[in-house]
Amino acid sequence: MAEAVINPRIRGFICLTAHPTGCAANVKRQIDIATKGGPGKGIGNALVIGSSAGYGLSSLITLAWGHGAKVLGACFERPGKDAKAGSGGFYNLAEVHRAAKASGKTIETINGDAFAQTGKDAVIAALKARFGKLDCIVYSVATPKRTDPVTGVTYTSTLKPIGPAYNSKTVDLDTEVIKPITIAPAEETDIEATIKVMGGDDWLLWMQALKDADLLAPNCRAVAYSYIGPALTHAIYRAGTIGRAKDHLEATAKTITEKVLKPLGGSAYVSVNKALVTQASSAIPVVPLYISLLYKVMKDKNCHEGTIEQMVRLWKDHLAPGKTPKLDDVGRIRVDDWEMRADVQEATAKLWEQVTSENLMNLSDYPSFKREFRQLFGFEVPGIDYAAAVEVEAALG
Ligand code: NAD
Repeated sequence: MAEAVINPRIRGFICLTAHPTGCAANVKRQIDIATKGGPGKGIGNALVIGSSAGYGLSSLITLAWGHGAKVLGACFERPGKDAKAGSGGFYNLAEVHRAAKASGKTIETINGDAFAQTGKDAVIAALKARFGKLDCIVYSVATPKRTDPVTGVTYTSTLKPIGPAYNSKTVDLDTEVIKPITIAPAEETDIEATIKVMGGDDWLLWMQALKDADLLAPNCRAVAYSYIGPALTHAIYRAGTIGRAKDHLEATAKTITEKVLKPLGGSAYVSVNKALVTQASSAIPVVPLYISLLYKVMKDKNCHEGTIEQMVRLWKDHLAPGKTPKLDDVGRIRVDDWEMRADVQEATAKLWEQVTSENLMNLSDYPSFKREFRQLFGFEVPGIDYAAAVEVEAALG
């Protein structure tokens, strides 16, 4: 065991350290919201792949505290060792495990590469030994790299436009200056690699492996997360390399329903979620500036939500047992409905035209973007004494 004073070490959209007590406070807040937002029962066993941060963490908390599920989570996080801090996701789950134990809930975590066969084998062994058949599977992995378990080839995803170069503006997260940005168009290999990493290949492999292991319960529901977003990010997001991967993920939901879940009376869904501050979204050029303006508009209109509010609403309105999910004309659940409201989009687009380095702090909610980014790693959380030394090592037990 080792204690240390932990300070943020931030480079652009990367934070190299994380604070265990701050992460724990974030998780406690989410547990509180999920507990109030659900019936506390109704779902049996759930698996969340990508369970330690962002939408996956909020899904796990919603399932366990909002709907009484026993949850096995899979993630890829770094534990703290000696005086070196672990990752935010690891500390998030340390608190999830502590709180679960304190309230008699069953939550287990497999920490390793979920893309690898060894990761899937470890999850399947744990499910067989201590859980049983799954009623719900959430797929919420976000990462820039994936090694194909069959060929051994490692793919790197890109965030590039397809067709002409993309010209826009973005906020430099180190200098807080708004700058023009030009992103060169993708090659065919960029598109293929991004689909390999962020498309539906791995989700389908998971579902087939779970089926082969006889771990899917009757009426089982699976869900993965997608994004569409506004016209102003269209060329870099939905019509770019990542958008192709999302098209593939959305098509995979249909394949999973047909090949894997239909015979059991179940279905696979894609939920299109709102743009929010997470490690994954902070890495996308242009998106932090868009989020800062969107937050301002949605808070002014009293319709802002965070990941936990989104996930509570997803299960309450669509995925809880007995609910029939409401789908758009191509079969997706839309909890981005408030982000995409015409009045919200019009107001955000207007601010987008006006925003400059000089008015960034007033015209947009950049201060919240900045604070929430730090809070992902447990920093700038109210009530935490950051001058005090804290225990760096934590357990997921
Ligand atoms: P995140 O960065 O907060 O979390 C990613 C999760 O993936 C973490 O739990 C991490 O441990 C896990 N992970 C990464 N590599 C892994 C591996 N090899 N094995 C096991 N686990 C691994 O991401 P997020 O923003 O919550 O994104 C989750 C999903 O939601 C993505 O599909 C994303 O496109 C989608 N989404 C995000 C937003 C947004 O604004 N953040 C909006 C809509 C949809």
